[in-house]
Amino acid sequence: MAKKYTKKELEQQIIGKLRRNFGREVEEATPVHMFRACALVLRDIMSARELETESRIRDSHARQVHYLSLEFLMGRSLEKNAYNLGVLPQLKEAVEGLGFSAPDLFEVEPDAGLGNGGLGRLAACYLESMTTLEIPATGYSICYELGLFKQKIVDGQQVELPDNWLDVADCWLIPKVDETERVHFGGEVRDIWGEDGSHRVAYVGGSDVLAVPKDMEIAGYGTEHVNVLRLWDAKSPTPLDMSLFSRGEYLKAVEQQAMAESIAKILYPEDNHYEGKSLRLKQQYFFVSATVQCICRQHKAEYGTLRNFHQKHVIQINDTHPTLVIPELMRILLDEEGYGWDEAWHIVTHTVAYTNHTIMVEALERWPQQLIETLLPRVWQILVEISNRYQAHLNEYFHGDQSKVRDLAVIWGGEVRMANLCVCACFAVNGVSALHSDILKRETFHDVYVQTPEKFKNVTNGIDHRRWLSEINPKLDALIRECAGGDAYLLQPEKLVQLERYKEDASVLNRLAEIKAENKRSFAGYVARESGVLLNTDAIFDVQVKRLHEYKRQLLNVMHITYLYQRLKADPHFEFTPRVYLFGAKAAPGYSVAKEIIHLINSLAATVNADPACKDRLQVVFLENYRVSLAEKLMPASELSEQISTAGKEASGTGNMKFMMNGALTIGTLDGANVEMHQQVGDENIFLFGLKANEVAEKKAKGYRSYEYYMHDEFLKAVIDQITRGFDDGVGYADVTNRLLFGKGGPADEYMLLADFESYREAQERAGRTYRDPGRWNRMALVNIARSGIFAADRSIREYARNIWDVPAKKL
Ligand SMILES: *Cc1c(COP(=O)(O)O)cnc(C)c1O
Repeated sequence: MAKKYTKKELEQQIIGKLRRNFGREVEEATPVHMFRACALVLRDIMSARELETESRIRDSHARQVHYLSLEFLMGRSLEKNAYNLGVLPQLKEAVEGLGFSAPDLFEVEPDAGLGNGGLGRLAACYLESMTTLEIPATGYSICYELGLFKQKIVDGQQVELPDNWLDVADCWLIPKVDETERVHFGGEVRDIWGEDGSHRVAYVGGSDVLAVPKDMEIAGYGTEHVNVLRLWDAKSPTPLDMSLFSRGEYLKAVEQQAMAESIAKILYPEDNHYEGKSLRLKQQYFFVSATVQCICRQHKAEYGTLRNFHQKHVIQINDTHPTLVIPELMRILLDEEGYGWDEAWHIVTHTVAYTNHTIMVEALERWPQQLIETLLPRVWQILVEISNRYQAHLNEYFHGDQSKVRDLAVIWGGEVRMANLCVCACFAVNGVSALHSDILKRETFHDVYVQTPEKFKNVTNGIDHRRWLSEINPKLDALIRECAGGDAYLLQPEKLVQLERYKEDASVLNRLAEIKAENKRSFAGYVARESGVLLNTDAIFDVQVKRLHEYKRQLLNVMHITYLYQRLKADPHFEFTPRVYLFGAKAAPGYSVAKEIIHLINSLAATVNADPACKDRLQVVFLENYRVSLAEKLMPASELSEQISTAGKEASGTGNMKFMMNGALTIGTLDGANVEMHQQVGDENIFLFGLKANEVAEKKAKGYRSYEYYMHDEFLKAVIDQITRGFDDGVGYADVTNRLLFGKGGPADEYMLLADFESYREAQERAGRTYRDPGRWNRMALVNIARSGIFAADRSIREYARNIWDVPAKKL
């Protein structure tokens, strides 16, 4: 039975940490000292449990999961760990007892922003869930010195600032210097033939980078199981002054030091976008090589051989970013263990499983041959061999059909196609929603699917409902506990359905409404303190928060708000339900259209908010620096969730699930997991609009002409014309509207905003009308919460465990 920690004990331990680690008495401690001391206290609890977890796993020889992701968007950990360890109330009391405010203390913690958006946050939710379900699992990533940039809005435009998260949050990391790995780059490969005709390879020249693990412990909920997120830091193997002898050596050493340490410097800020940068390739190889060496070393220490490797490990790769695990594991089995190709290939192809996250061509990784060849010569040789064997197989399978061979080839036209390598070598390939997995099978990977249909799976994404509901929305959590069998839903999210018994119960519906109203007021208080902006809490909080991307169609939302603005100006009696439109979005620094759209939102906001015609009716606010900790404040206060991507483009979405669990209604297209949300709640509990995925494809095939929509809808025309001219700040957005009407180096209106405008406008109106019937709205919100259980990460992880990993998950 887990030891219970009292307020008194935690107080004593915090005081001890302050003295020993920071040389301070409580009276002298700043909130940062206090935060770090609390973190260290929780770490002690977790460390003891981690050791016990490790020894249990060792003794049982259990099969382990290794979750590889170049991104883990962890957010904050203090409140979360305290929650999962079951000491949150005691910790808060201890902190208050020592004269600090607990909420203020939690605010001191910087987000660990080691990810861009959905993909990175998914990895974080999954690690929590794997731990809660007592799966022996380790997450691996890079210990980026700088996480995703901080966003400031200056004169309506995005400015990026560095995110030095380690300054304060490094207290969660435990360096394990003795488990350092060496990663080799460059040089040449020599064949060495033995007298007996045996063959081995030697690596000549090149340079090494040290990979130093920094472990972050992950506490599960309702268990003593603790897993680890292993973050690799990059260090140069040569101390600088060793080569001070000659000037040339000195410069070389500095260069090498810089190259080594640049690897873990920064997270690439592009979401859903590929750029063939050599530093990014170095990051990817550094990451997978350190990870694979580490797993192999531990395996050999335990079993003395790698021959049973695939029976004891599964490596799940989050998108293609860690694809080089495939040739890297081959390299170790061939060159270091001396296995033959077939045996090595058997092990690799029974170990690695791949999750696809996008079908958009601009996100597909295709590394130039020359880059891989010079940076990773041995990996290149192995890739060539994989590619040749695969092509021979394809040739035979498709009877020489060269178009198929070309489309499926791993190396083609001087490029290595990572997705093709994954579907060739992995034993499982999964999409992240029913629609997305369907598209993978029917289109993207159809010609592989027909060969090996059993490889292809779906695992619809899920979120950590303990964080995204119970922890961040304590009032709603309390109501659920009353109505749905206490805290059982925390480990059995499907229990949320019990809420539905109250869908005709006026007192429960009123309480739900009151909780939402209180959460709105408290979010408005936060915004007022942060930015001075006063939100109208009587209006619908209509929210679109996610990375800024053309396919996510923030611009469609802007077009509709512009329409509302024009109607309100033209007709004071225009029937309309007051709205606060909230946006939050970071644009990749090099994505200029996305940055222009942020500017546009801010131009629109300034105009609308200053116009008396909009007073108490229409407000537009851009929330700066959208990140996990901001999402946590916003979700409980949201009423309408904007999930309006072009159908077929959003692989799943997970933001949509956070909103649903917190009782926001969705206005959305039938895209990604919205399709499954619709299946759960039915037509009457969601505001659907727009073309379906197949209709988008058909329309494109027939020759879509956005200009015709512009010419034939006077409202739409007025909206586009206004955006071209711009708003009161005098900034015009012809660049943006030209893309919609005429295209610019691409098709006009690639994401079909104009085609969906009318339908979106109608759905917005339906939502507004529904809001004026609070009984109906509240019932819909309750039904959405009640049926959101399947979007818990626990459900997803149980599916991975059963259908892909073949590992047991905790039984309940
Ligand atoms: C959940 C989350 C996302 C993903 O949102 P989508 O709407 O699914 O794109 C992105 N960023 C943050 C900070 C999140 O918490």
